[in-house]
Order: sequence, then C-alpha cells, then structure tokens
Amino acid sequence: MNFCVECGEEAEQTIDGLCIECFLDGRKLISLPHHVDMKVCANCGDIGHGENAWATKDLMQAVNDAAADAVEVVKEAEVVSVGTVQIEQEPHTYVVMVDVVLDIKGVKAEDSASTIVRVKNTVCKRCSRQLGNYYESILQIRASKDTSQNILRDVRNKVEGFVDSHSVTNRQLFITKIEEVQGGIDFYLSSMALGKAAAKELADAYCAETKEAAKLIGIKEDGQEMFRVTYLVRLPDFHAGDVVMFEGRYFKLIRVSGSGAKVIDIMNFRERAVKRSDVPSLKVHARCEDLPEAVVVSRGGSEIQILNPFNYSTADLNIPPGAEIGDTVRVVEIDDALYYVP
Ligand SMILES: [Zn+2]
Ligand SMILES: [Zn+2]
Repeated sequence: MNFCVECGEEAEQTIDGLCIECFLDGRKLISLPHHVDMKVCANCGDIGHGENAWATKDLMQAVNDAAADAVEVVKEAEVVSVGTVQIEQEPHTYVVMVDVVLDIKGVKAEDSASTIVRVKNTVCKRCSRQLGNYYESILQIRASKDTSQNILRDVRNKVEGFVDSHSVTNRQLFITKIEEVQGGIDFYLSSMALGKAAAKELADAYCAETKEAAKLIGIKEDGQEMFRVTYLVRLPDFHAGDVVMFEGRYFKLIRVSGSGAKVIDIMNFRERAVKRSDVPSLKVHARCEDLPEAVVVSRGGSEIQILNPFNYSTADLNIPPGAEIGDTVRVVEIDDALYYVP
C-alpha cells in the first residue's frame, strides 16, 4: 500500500506519489490552442483536413470536429468521450467549448476548454483544377448521323453516372466540361485513367469500337513528358431493339455487351449469340423507333391477325409461343411481307 505524499492518506493508485484525488486537485487535464484554422472550399463547400485532404461534411459538424481534434490531454489520462458546444459565433468565427470525460487509472474525471475555430475560405485542388479547365483526357463519342438523340442522351447519362460513382472514392475525378459537337459528344475528363475506363465501359455497353491517341503537350520541370489522351468511342449503327441483317437472315437485336450480341430470328423466333468479332457485320434493316405499329384484330394459337398499317388490309402473322399480345404489335416489312417483331 502506498501513501500520498500530499495528504498522507493510503492510496491504491498513485501518480508521481500523489493519490488520484490530490493529482486531480485543480489540475487542467485538457488544453486547446487559442484558435484553430479550418479550410472551406468557397466553390464546393468541402472541408479541408491537413494539407491536401478534402471531404464533404456539414459545416457546423466540421467546426466542432476541428475543435475536438485539437484537444490535447495529459498523458496520464485516457479519453472516454468528447462533447462539443458552439457557444458563440459570428461570421467565419466560432467559439467552441469542448467537454472531455477522462479515465485516470480507473477514476472518471471531466474537464473542459474552449477555442476559436476560424473558417478560412479557399478553393480546393479539385475546384481550382475544374475552374481552371484542367483536363487530362477527352472522351470522344461519335455516332452516325442517323443515331437517335435518345442513344446520345443515354451515353451522356452513362458517362456522368460512371464519373459520379468513381468520384465518391476519388474526388480528383471529375468532368471538366461536356461539349455537344457535330456527330457526337466530347467529355473533357480530369484523369487519363478515367477516360480509359469510361471508354471501356461504353465499348462494352454498346459493342463500340475504340481508339486512343496521345498528344505530347509539354515537359514537366522534372523532365517528364506530359500527354493528353483522346479516347474515341465510335458507336455502332445498330442498337438494341433494331431489326438487323446477319448472315442473310433477319433478327431483332436483343442486346449487346462486351462479349457480343444476342439476337432473335424474325422468322422462327430462335435466339442466337453473335460473337463480338462478328458484331461489326450486323447491318441495320429497320431502326427500333421506325418499326411501325399495327392494330391487332384477332389472336388465336400461334397466329394473330393485324391491320396492315400501310394499306389497312388484314394480314396473318406468326407469333412465338407464349407471346403476350396487346392491342398493337410492332411489325417489320421484309421483301414486301410483314412480320411480327418479338
Ligand atoms: Zn492525496
Ligand atoms: Zn471545392
């Protein structure tokens, strides 16, 4: 058993010869600097941590955290919990009271201190790049002039979604600008890797052909060459839903992917796969949006009777087993005859 050098009482635990009570008596357990500076991006509102780390955070929460993070605790204590209160504020200046519960060799103690959090407006690296039109790659989407606006809108949504999802974990990834140009869209992107990945994504989604070209744009101070890369994505003429010709037969194109295409035969409704290397030989016979609708007059078994949308005569069309037939169906004209489009 020890004795406290201050009060002389018996003590199970001593610190520097003092019992815990005498150790705690009048002692400051925590300290805070007079002020803490916190960076806020004036453009996007993100909060800066340290030199180059930025994160999206609620401003009031960030102010409290900045104060809490600056707390220094005496070495004999362990932090149990930290609470913060903003007790006063004026524009860009917050006085924050920090209350800390501590554990000192099994004895709970509390202490509080306050600091001034000064919010400094600045511009984060991403925004300064974005505002400065910084880009490392151009993703060029090119489509034939018959390509519908829907497809281009779809491409645009895909690229924006792709960049959004990647910027969650890497905020240096962004679209600098988007330009709608003759025959397609140009996306200016903050990173080369992002351009490459987006081109691959689109190539798979549309069975598109891609090409890349690098251009030397300068030499860095350390002698390293700087390139800007253009990734060209040439969209094929056909898209899901179109009626295409392949190896002398007519098919509806069900979908395309990185591995090729899936098609269904217009004459016998059999599905088949087309290898990616054969996909470029698909020829559009009729575009999805150009397929006429025909009114269904009657249905029975494996046939339906429709009104020919061109001359309003009736015609019998084969349908696949189990097809759900509504009031109208899509049809395609091949060699002056009409066929049901599954
Ligand atoms: Zn004592
Ligand atoms: Zn910013």
